[in-house]
Amino acid sequence: MRAAVLRGPEPISMEDITLDEPRAGEVLVRVVACGVCHSDYHTVNRAKAGALPAPVILGHEVGGIVEAVGPGVMSVVEGDHVVCAFKPNCGACYFCVRGQPQICERSDYPDRLFNGSSPRLRDEGGNPVQQGIGVGGYAQYSLMPERGVVKVREDAPLDRICLVGCGVTTGVGAALRTAKVEAGSDVAVIGLGGVGLNVVQGARLAGARRIIGVDTVASKAELGAKFGMTDFVNAAEVDAVEEVRRLTNDRLDYAFEAIGLGRTSEQAFGMVRRGGTAVIVGVVGDSITIPGLAFLGEKRLIGSFFGSAKLQYDIPVYVDLYMDGKLNLDDLVSKKRPMPEINEAFADMMAGTVARSVMEPVG
Ligand SMILES: [Zn+2]
Ligand SMILES: [Zn+2]
Repeated sequence: MRAAVLRGPEPISMEDITLDEPRAGEVLVRVVACGVCHSDYHTVNRAKAGALPAPVILGHEVGGIVEAVGPGVMSVVEGDHVVCAFKPNCGACYFCVRGQPQICERSDYPDRLFNGSSPRLRDEGGNPVQQGIGVGGYAQYSLMPERGVVKVREDAPLDRICLVGCGVTTGVGAALRTAKVEAGSDVAVIGLGGVGLNVVQGARLAGARRIIGVDTVASKAELGAKFGMTDFVNAAEVDAVEEVRRLTNDRLDYAFEAIGLGRTSEQAFGMVRRGGTAVIVGVVGDSITIPGLAFLGEKRLIGSFFGSAKLQYDIPVYVDLYMDGKLNLDDLVSKKRPMPEINEAFADMMAGTVARSVMEPVG
């Protein structure tokens, strides 16, 4: 199959890759569309630093069609429309059994296939190729564990609902599932990218009164409004914490960090009221420093991973909400591109000029 392969500091290029047949508990998915998510860029940065252990196919927001299933697969059959989830759950570990499948301990990268046999892909020289974040969606096919593949309704467009595989579930779920935003509450969202916009619409679905978007790109004011944002704070022009506290009369109930920086995480904590909750949604690689005395005011700082999703339930629900016109995915897809344009799509994402690009396989 043709796939976009990242090997090091040089741009991603298209290659011919061979893929194993699905083994027990595995599903071969024909990729119809794959969203371009910021999480992939952490791997690109590792590659730029020369720290990539093996060539890798990025992409983890896949909407596709089941091509073949391995022995024992019960939940999907050939021809089913599916969304792939980058964080499968085993259904049997301590956390899955406790009702927190989003932090399943058997599906931590890179052991996504659960059977320790990865990688299952090889390049033309016969060398192993990794599936980035367990999916490897910038390709014609993705080999997935059954527990990371969710059947969805066939009338839902795969080039939209592919985004439910990561960004939509992560953002909407952070508001609905992790924070359980209460109707009538005031919410701020720092970072209006593909995830942040989904936190905005999750807060809208929850019935939030005021939803304040914070970003440094002025055009996000118009974009955020399409998802339910009521106010926009341009952090390039004003102090975001002061401005949000002013707008809410220091009564902000929830702040969500959707960028992945220590500094903006501190801002999220700084802008919520006493008794309020700051939710870290972004992948924060650095440290977060906050004043300990703030906890006397019962402020809470919590993490949210993959929208606290029970994905086998939540993914079809989010797809239904889209089909019912209650979730906006159409305005998330700023651009569709053929797979070989992946480098351009990454450049768009880093420039903040798109909410999401969606890649389509060729070949
Ligand atoms: Zn992602
Ligand atoms: Zn588990």
